[in-house]
Parts: sequence; structure tokens; C-alpha cells
Amino acid sequence: MGKRNELKGKKVLVLGLAKSGHAAADLLHSLGAFVIVNDSSPETGSEEAKALRSKGIIVICGGHPEDILDHDFDVIVKNPGIPYHNPVIQQAEQKGIPIWTEIELSYLVSEAPIIAITGSNGKTTTTTLLYHILNIGGKKPLIAGNIGTVACTVAENARPDEVIVMEVSSFQLAGTEYFRPKIAVWTNLYDAHLDYHGTPEEYALAKAKVTANQTEEDFFIYNADQPEMRPYVERSAAWKVPFSLQGRHAEGISADDELIYWQGEPFVKRSIIKLLGQHNLENILAATASAILMDCDKETIENVLSSFTGVRHRMQFVKELKGRTFYNDSKATNTLATRSALSSFQSPVVLIAGGLDRGHSFEELRPYMGRVKAVLALGETADRLIDFASSCGVQHALKADSMEKAVQEAFAISLEGDQILLSPACASWDQYPSFEERGDAFIEAVMKL
Ligand code: ADP
Repeated sequence: MGKRNELKGKKVLVLGLAKSGHAAADLLHSLGAFVIVNDSSPETGSEEAKALRSKGIIVICGGHPEDILDHDFDVIVKNPGIPYHNPVIQQAEQKGIPIWTEIELSYLVSEAPIIAITGSNGKTTTTTLLYHILNIGGKKPLIAGNIGTVACTVAENARPDEVIVMEVSSFQLAGTEYFRPKIAVWTNLYDAHLDYHGTPEEYALAKAKVTANQTEEDFFIYNADQPEMRPYVERSAAWKVPFSLQGRHAEGISADDELIYWQGEPFVKRSIIKLLGQHNLENILAATASAILMDCDKETIENVLSSFTGVRHRMQFVKELKGRTFYNDSKATNTLATRSALSSFQSPVVLIAGGLDRGHSFEELRPYMGRVKAVLALGETADRLIDFASSCGVQHALKADSMEKAVQEAFAISLEGDQILLSPACASWDQYPSFEERGDAFIEAVMKL
């Protein structure tokens, strides 16, 4: 923390001129580093490039010059999206140049403690919920990462009496060396992003970096119900805080059907919680444990848990109309997320799903298809999804040409008491630029009914 001076005079190559590259270059320059920015995309009227050049930073766009590493860089700060098989990264690895992402910079410059939240699913929900609790509890939180401002910009301006709540991905964590959050949260571990990390072990190791530099003065909150996480947990030197949904536990935070327990003692009643779904209960436990460790009082935590209804596009309650309830879970871009969504409901579900075809199977949904009375299939995977739903005995499995038609059809098929759920189990890019726009199209169609 607060190691700004160590960056002074360093030669840094910033790879990738997106929002985070711009922020990193700006910060490094202001700390007295010598910065070159390089992006493989052509520079077509890039405001970011112009702004950086006006400060005297060298910006090279449209490819990676072969001799770019001849500058003897001390460190490379790469955009998390740039894969490790990129030729410049490969050469840099051979030369032994440290390769960071901007969250490493955030740690080095921050005067405020950091709470870092990672996991295959649940990061944004946990981060947002925790932010709300800390905010109501007067702990001066700053939100950073995917849902907020670029982390290093937040960290640059953070004061010691504030606290940064930071959502961190495996891509970002892979590029850390000294990163050491005060509280690390690891929500869960599922196989994901194998195209980037190569193997499930590499992916898990990247996630485990969230706790790698922690000491016994720090806290590590992890999912005790996932045995696959255990080997990585055992290596952590932090004070360990397990969370579990398998009934009362003496350690950490746990829940049974009625209560949430802190260190084995009843803490709050589950009946006050508004957020739907078992998976969200995991997120609630992780956020609540973090808030307790940050000295938030019980009343504050209860107040937020009894009013927080979720994050946009993540099991977001949209509307109730003629006894049907509409939920927007457009962020569910894989089958595991959709499985979590389906497991949240006891009453019949009309499911709107489908999208970009990555050749993935829908089999993981099978145990929960009993509660699905109809499927409206969208996008590239429509036919495969219909075949799958039919094989599960779903009576109505129909293709829809558009979100509007899917919503109209879902409404027509449904009865009072049914849930109408958009949870696509696929990415959106075959039909929409982003999952946000897909979710907005769903909300708009619901509002038109
Ligand atoms: P992330 O930021 O990690 O992508 P989000 O909080 O945005 O996670 O949730 C994304 C989707 O993952 C949600 O739509 C939800 O269906 C599912 N999900 C959220 N939390 C969990 C969890 N703890 N376990 C499994 N699935 C989850």
C-alpha cells in the first residue's frame, strides 16, 4: 500500500489502450514513470491517444513494433483481455519482465485498504451488496472494477479512511505480484475461461492469487462448500473465514433454512432477505462476513439485506403482471448461471433462453428442467435448446424470432403464479452488442405487454 515512489523513474510499457490502459498510463506518468503505450488496433481518432500524447506520453497504435522491447522496460502493464500467447507478452516473459495488470498498480498506490472480490460467479452481486452495507454503515466505501471506475483511478484518489471494494477477475489477478487486499473474497470456483487460462488449474491458480500475498493480519473469505477450493485455501496465510450453506458451523459464517450464523451464533433471520436464490445466499454470506469484519453493526446489515433486491440484469425483478412475475437474468451467459437461476424458483417457470453458439451443452440444466413448463428459444442455439428441452419432457419448446415475440409468447403460455424468466445460458453477441442491451430489450418487451 502507498508505494507510489517505487514507480518513479521506472520504464513501463502499457499494452492495450482501452479505458484501463488509458488510466494506467495516466497514473504512471503522473507518478514520474517513463511510459510508452502500445495497442495493436489502428488509431482511428482515438481521443485517449490524443489525451495521452498531449501529456508527452508516447502512443504507438496499429500493431506491435518488433523492437518494442528493446527499450529495456522495468515492467509491462497489460490490458487483462490480452492473452498470454500474445508475441510481445511471450518475449517479455522470456526476458523476465514482470507483467502486471492495472489492479497491481491500484494496490501499489492506494492509501486505502482494499476488499477484493473474485469468483466464477457472484462477483458483481457481492461487490454491490457489500458496497451498500458499507455505505449505509458510514465506512466510506469506493467501488472499483467492472461496475465502477477503473481500479487504479479509484485507488489513486483514495484516502486512508476510505475502503475500496473491488471486483477482480481471474484475468486481472493473473497479472499481480504484490497485490494484497485486507479482505479477499472468493465466491466459488467453476471451470471458466479455459480459452484464456489453458487449464482449470491455471484458472484456479489465477483466482487464488487474491490471497497469495495476504498475511495473518488479513482475512480470506471463501466457499467452504466447494472441496475443489480447499487446496488453494490451505495455502493462504490469512485469517480464514469460511462460508457455508450446509447448516450451522462454529467457524465463519453459515446458514440453515431459517438463520444466518456468525461464528456459530444466530446473527440474522433469513426471512428478512429480499434477494432471491440459493446462489445469492452465498453472495449474501460473503458480503455479510466482509461487513462484520469491517465493523458494520448488525442493524445496518439487516437494513440493507431487507431492502436489496439485486443488481440490474442479475435475477432482477422486473414486474408483476396478472399474477406472473418477470425476472431479467440476462447476465446468465453460461449454463451454470442459468442453473442457479432455475434453482431459485419453486413455482413453474417459462424460460426465455438461447444466444451465441459456443458448442456448449445444456445438460447442466437437466436437474432443474422439471420446473420449466415452457421454453422460448432465441438466437443461434435455438434449435439445440429446443431439442434439449424436448428431451427433458418440456411440452412447449418454441423458437422465437425476437425478444418481443418471445416475451409475448411466454405471457400467452403462462398462467397466474408462473415466473417468466430471461436467463439465456448463452452470450448475447449473436443478437446484441452486450448482455445489458439484451436485458434492456427484455424489460422493454415486458413493459409493452
Ligand atoms: P459475476 O460478476 O461474477 O459475473 P454476477 O453477480 O454478475 O456475477 O452474477 C452473474 C450470474 O451468475 C447471475 O445472473 C446469477 O444467475 C449467477 N450467480 C450469481 N451469484 C452466483 C453464485 N454465488 N453461484 C452461482 N451462480 C451465481
